[in-house]
Amino acid sequence: MAEPLPPPSDAPSTLSVDDEKARVTDAVAAVARELEQRGAQAGGAAQDVLEAQAMMAEDPSLADEVDTRLAQGKTGEFAVFDAFASFRDQLSAMGGYLGERAADLDDVAQRVIARLRGVAAPGVPDPGHPFVLVAKDLAPADTALLDLDKVLALVTTEGGPTSHTAILAREKSIVAVVGTVEAKGLRDGQMVIVDAAAGVVTTDPTPDELERAQNRAAARAAAATAPLTDGALADGTPVPLLANLGNADAAAEAVTLGAEGVGLFRTEFLFLSANQAPTVEQQREAYTKLLAAFPGKKVVVRVLDAGADKPLPFLNDAHEENPALGLRGLRALRASEDILREQLTALAEADAATSADLWVMAPMVSTVEETQYFVDLARDYGVKTAGVMVEVPSSALLADRILAHADFASIGTNDLTQYTLAADRLLGSVATFQDPWHPAVLRLIGEVGDAGRATGKPVGICGEAAADPLLAVVLVGLGATSLSMAPTALADVRASLLQHTLEDARDIAEAALAADSATSARTAAQEASTRRAALAAANTTDEGAQQ
Ligand code: PEP
Ligand code: MG
Repeated sequence: MAEPLPPPSDAPSTLSVDDEKARVTDAVAAVARELEQRGAQAGGAAQDVLEAQAMMAEDPSLADEVDTRLAQGKTGEFAVFDAFASFRDQLSAMGGYLGERAADLDDVAQRVIARLRGVAAPGVPDPGHPFVLVAKDLAPADTALLDLDKVLALVTTEGGPTSHTAILAREKSIVAVVGTVEAKGLRDGQMVIVDAAAGVVTTDPTPDELERAQNRAAARAAAATAPLTDGALADGTPVPLLANLGNADAAAEAVTLGAEGVGLFRTEFLFLSANQAPTVEQQREAYTKLLAAFPGKKVVVRVLDAGADKPLPFLNDAHEENPALGLRGLRALRASEDILREQLTALAEADAATSADLWVMAPMVSTVEETQYFVDLARDYGVKTAGVMVEVPSSALLADRILAHADFASIGTNDLTQYTLAADRLLGSVATFQDPWHPAVLRLIGEVGDAGRATGKPVGICGEAAADPLLAVVLVGLGATSLSMAPTALADVRASLLQHTLEDARDIAEAALAADSATSARTAAQEASTRRAALAAANTTDEGAQQ
């Protein structure tokens, strides 16, 4: 287990204020350089995260806070500990995306204090054999450079799905379950199965559970080296496999992993730290870069999704008691329509300059009227394919009416689960409710699938659910026509689809829909999948015998 350093004492320093200040300045600079160097070594999203952390370390307002404490005669260790802790509390109180950056700040403080003490920064232990790493949280700097030959899997008690640990783990294909209370009871030397797809840690597994896990791991290893064919079921039914992206720099990697296009481009990720609305020029440049990476391919761009866990001060800075139920997504854009119009202008210009097939959709749409509003406005700007996300139960229930106006629907299972189960997706205490396998969520998805079939309109899935190989089959059985996910999940999902026909998928979906809970839906789907595979094997043997 990775343990934090013991906290420094509040005793007065024996050095002069200037000497303490010089020690702290040197330590902070050394930590910032080390983080930058680790970033350069890791590359990709890790580099952005670690460079941002290096900037945090050298933030002038934090330095002022440290100086105030040094001037009171405190030691460098205590001044850093106390000043960083007060900043962390402010970040934490903001919640959501910013709240999850608090862990990054803790890591910087720990590194500076370790340097001041002349000890190694707390990091990944090395027991001398491959192991499952269990920690409260793991710093991005450690996650980015994990030795995957030694660390078989990662389990943390803290951090949500948008924590940097989770984001980097996905990027590096690390088997990880983050923010699980189950990790608290784990002991050194205990055997565990870490099922990242299901988000479950099984302790002291039975021989049966062990065998199934080994089979899954073998299938995963085989999937990683399988050819990058287009997504399809065993009977040839195409199911395009698309990428979820938050910036155009990740496009090349997605193409390498076989993405057939983009199913969700989260434009708000480009502007999370901006205080002012981005200009049309800035946006045009970013969207052109994205579209240019996918010539002739489908690229679904979502207009800004501000509010709740993704604060954009220029769109919504109101304090709300329940921000997830507040001025979010399309509601916030409608309240600042100029920003929406500018975004549509930039998208239309980028579209005209490139050959990708641009689709544009609105987030957090909850009524038919909102659908009409968005689709009409997008068309005014020349958007050829305009759709909406289904993330709220009301939209799922009225999907037939919504699809009468929209060109397509894309189901955001993260929010659809949050709103169906009334469980904040960022709150650890209700994390067990945040399970897209819940039959209530599956029934709503089924409504949208039926509406898609009836109207002949595409229904994509772009929430995390699409990245779960078995759930992906269920989603197709419920009527999804494409699946979009973090690019590192593409290989597993591609392999899983290839093992099932459309008839299998519908049968497995039926089994999951009939369950009482998320857990029993998962089990029922697993059993139905095994049954269908046995049936197919028996049919093949029969055919062989008759020849
Ligand atoms: C979702 O809610 O499932 C989704 C894809 O949108 P986001 O995760 O960005 O809210
Ligand atoms: Mg969403």
